[in-house]
Amino acid sequence: MSLDVIVLGAGMVGVSSALHCQARGLEVALVDRRSAGEETSHGNAGVIERDSHVPITFPSKLADILKYARNREVAMRYDPFVMPKLAPWLFQLWRNSSAQRVDHYAQSVEPLRKKAMAEHRPFAQDAGIMDAFRDNGWIHLYQSDHGFKVGQLALSYAEDYGVEFDLLDRQQLLELEPSVTAAETAKAIYWKEAVSVSSPRRVVKAYADLFVGRGGAFVMGDALSLHREGDMWVINGKDGPIAAPCVIVALGPWSMDLLKPLGYDFPLAIKRGYHQHFTSKEGASLNRPVVDEETGFLITPMEDGVRLTTGVEFADRDAPKNIGQITAATKAAKALYPLGKAVEDEPWMGGRPCLPDSLPIVSPSGDRNGLYFNFGHGHLGFGCGPVTGRLIADFVTGGRPDLDPAPYSARRFV
Ligand SMILES: Cc1cc2nc3c(=O)[nH]c(=O)nc-3n(C[C@H](O)[C@H](O)[C@H](O)COP(=O)(O)OP(=O)(O)OC[C@H]3O[C@@H](n4cnc5c(N)ncnc54)[C@H](O)[C@@H]3O)c2cc1C
Repeated sequence: MSLDVIVLGAGMVGVSSALHCQARGLEVALVDRRSAGEETSHGNAGVIERDSHVPITFPSKLADILKYARNREVAMRYDPFVMPKLAPWLFQLWRNSSAQRVDHYAQSVEPLRKKAMAEHRPFAQDAGIMDAFRDNGWIHLYQSDHGFKVGQLALSYAEDYGVEFDLLDRQQLLELEPSVTAAETAKAIYWKEAVSVSSPRRVVKAYADLFVGRGGAFVMGDALSLHREGDMWVINGKDGPIAAPCVIVALGPWSMDLLKPLGYDFPLAIKRGYHQHFTSKEGASLNRPVVDEETGFLITPMEDGVRLTTGVEFADRDAPKNIGQITAATKAAKALYPLGKAVEDEPWMGGRPCLPDSLPIVSPSGDRNGLYFNFGHGHLGFGCGPVTGRLIADFVTGGRPDLDPAPYSARRFV
């Protein structure tokens, strides 16, 4: 089978790239070893953020460094044996943690955040999945004054970029979320423009079905079989080889498995994360995602129950699960909301594919070989996948991007 483009990876990023290329009239094959939306794009918190202009930075205060070094926090845990291997990446994260670099991140992420829901909406409408979208914002909760002060930077960027929010005291918070337990002194930021979904997996699958319904080919195959035959890239699909002059790499946490042997060296680290669903105790209900900003976990209503997600775990991508972090998160979450029984026997675990400047690579390879990159979406790939999907389709077709692509260029790591 000979086509125009092969997209490797059927998470939110790959499926969106395939849909946008298809919309330009290209013949596209979407390749995955599993069905669509089974990995990171399934396990996330499902928030399409309009806020979030402040990246996760390297802690600057000694007290915070010592706190995380104890390795008991819900927000961040690590496997001590991976830290030596991770040191160069952490050094780059530290360099990207200055006020100036945080400002660069805010400016660079703003076009992605601003267009995120506008890019989801036509996919969701055409895929008939709007019922999964909730247009009622999300809440960042601070139980102490100190924590709230740390959140001020997010507010100042929100003002710069015209993002709508309300500051809530405890009473106003309880009016929005009556089942939440908050300290007398609690404060919250209600980010009104955020949208969340009730099943990230169902959304990705619906987008993939839309792609197939419009004539696209979904091919089961191993991306690592990619090789050159003359001017073409070839993949060994389950039902035979497929060839195209262009390939988009959207393999999320697995992108470097393919790219390193091809000679590309990008500093992609994996921040693992966990989720588990719970029933709500009788009479309790949750209307939207709530983040406990000081402890570092989130709860959100999903079709399978209330989904609890953890912060970051630095560990080998393929190492067995370590349930310490989700166990601690569960304990903290039960103090916030009346969680009932766990729905699954064990938590889900996956990896956020993260570059040290917290921005994805959305770019041609630069080698004029028909290879394109769309990976490294870290904490924002579910929301912003459809935006970077459009941008990569612009590159493939020579179209004029409607945003400045420089912050996402592969060249920044060369
Ligand atoms: C706990 C948690 C919470 C999060 N919350 C949010 C949130 O609220 N909002 C948000 O925007 N983002 C969130 N994220 C981040 C978001 O989930 C990711 O940025 C996004 O899912 C990355 O999508 P992707 O398509 O790049 O990767 P993936 O969804 O992982 O897709 C990669 C695909 O590549 C395929 N693949 C891998 N290797 C091969 C191979 N050899 N051959 C064939 N196929 C292969 C996989 O099967 C998979 O389908 C969260 C992440 C986590 C872990």
